[in-house]
Amino acid sequence: ITQRGIILCTNMYFFPQSITTSDPNKDLQALSLIAAHSHISGLGLDDNLQPREASQGMVGQLTARKAAGVILKMIQAGKIAGRAVLIAGPPSTGKTAIATGMAQSLGPDVPFTALAASEIFSLELSKTEALTQAFRRSIGIKIKEETELIEGEVVEIQIDRSITGGHKQGKLTIRTTDMETIYELGNKMIDGLQKEKVLAGDIISIDKASGKITKLGRSYTRARDYDAMGPNTKFVQCPEGELQKRKEVVHTVSLHEIDVINSRSQGFLALFSGDTGEIRPEVRDQINTKVAEWREEGKAEISPGVLFIDEVHMLDIECFAFINRALEDEFSPIVIMATNRGISKTRGTSYMSPHGLPADLLDRSIIIRTEPYSEEEVGQILSIRAQEEEVELDAGALALLTKIGAETSLRYAANLISVANQIAVKKRSSVVTTDCIKKAYVLFLDSGRSVQFLDEFSDQYINDDGKVKISTEV
Ligand code: ATP
Repeated sequence: ITQRGIILCTNMYFFPQSITTSDPNKDLQALSLIAAHSHISGLGLDDNLQPREASQGMVGQLTARKAAGVILKMIQAGKIAGRAVLIAGPPSTGKTAIATGMAQSLGPDVPFTALAASEIFSLELSKTEALTQAFRRSIGIKIKEETELIEGEVVEIQIDRSITGGHKQGKLTIRTTDMETIYELGNKMIDGLQKEKVLAGDIISIDKASGKITKLGRSYTRARDYDAMGPNTKFVQCPEGELQKRKEVVHTVSLHEIDVINSRSQGFLALFSGDTGEIRPEVRDQINTKVAEWREEGKAEISPGVLFIDEVHMLDIECFAFINRALEDEFSPIVIMATNRGISKTRGTSYMSPHGLPADLLDRSIIIRTEPYSEEEVGQILSIRAQEEEVELDAGALALLTKIGAETSLRYAANLISVANQIAVKKRSSVVTTDCIKKAYVLFLDSGRSVQFLDEFSDQYINDDGKVKISTEV
């Protein structure tokens, strides 16, 4: 139950769906999205982006997965930013699963922020502030930093193949932190080295005045015997294991993290509490200028990540206008949206539009479509889910569950797995049988049976006007 954890009670018959307000100050990375998709570890594509029928927890939905893979490659190559992708399809057809697969494949250096559109509506943050924070969380800044170096330490030795192969011409680059001893000998004949290979661990001497380099051998004590070479000589031992060594560390932080750390009213501790509050626009302007400077100076790289907005039809026209503008910003992530709505009203307007999205945002989006699953695919997904939840279904139970999934919904059938397992545990059985599935099916209604029930007993429920229709006829 912890995987779903929501018990809803109602005495209402038909009631307009309201917007849930949650606390976006908590990390917007919606944890609830993860548990239901914990079986997914990628998009299940091969190196040529061809989807495997069942791989990395993913089953079927081949065209959509391939399309997602193409987008993924472009993101990884850092080729796109400021684009919108809409994943549209009926409920339980794997839209969130595909976004999760993309997040898993992106790796830790590309920020991926997932949120349900309803999280934007909060009493503490304005809609645009919550969206701004979500956008800036999705932009990674790779900051290059030099680690502390010890005076005289060798930081880089590059030996061109043409030298190690015994040619007379080549390139040897030695950099040390002692700035006087930076040698770059491009395309020069290097005395004493032309016939010998320089290997990791070798000791070479460098004459500071002439730049002449001599290979001395592999022992430091022996090298010290060459004191006769005078004070101008520097001894360098090529680092063990690698001939190229750079002491540069790259940290990836999000633009939002930089904002929070520099926001005087909040301070960096807010990063841990999640209580970032509103960040003043001046702070963001300053950060943008600074980051642009770092980029110019080669100290930082911008890495546009992904902002995934589930149930995007729950946003209103102001939020859509904000997204439209934000996509044109200098620092913009790739926005991936998901919806199961057909032609519906754009919130905050009286217009009907495809997927509830305004025409201008729809126009700039590329659309990936998901389709209903075949019964066989439903069976495969349910079997993977059962394994993930460590529930053993016998063949009959899986067949019945598959039938239920195909006739009601994949999500309902997946929810029955843990319930049926609980019934099996009560019967002291380690395997879920057909009987357990039947019992779970009777105990918990799917939406179809719930509507049927409402139709029969609607007069006992409270209606939209707040009244109970109780018959007074005797
Ligand atoms: P909704 O429109 O209701 O939000 P959705 O299209 O986002 O639905 P998901 O939440 O992705 O649907 O899918 C429902 C469940 O089925 C999840 O547990 C998901 O991981 C699983 N699932 C869906 N499609 C696949 C698939 N192709 N392979 C493996 N698991 C899947």
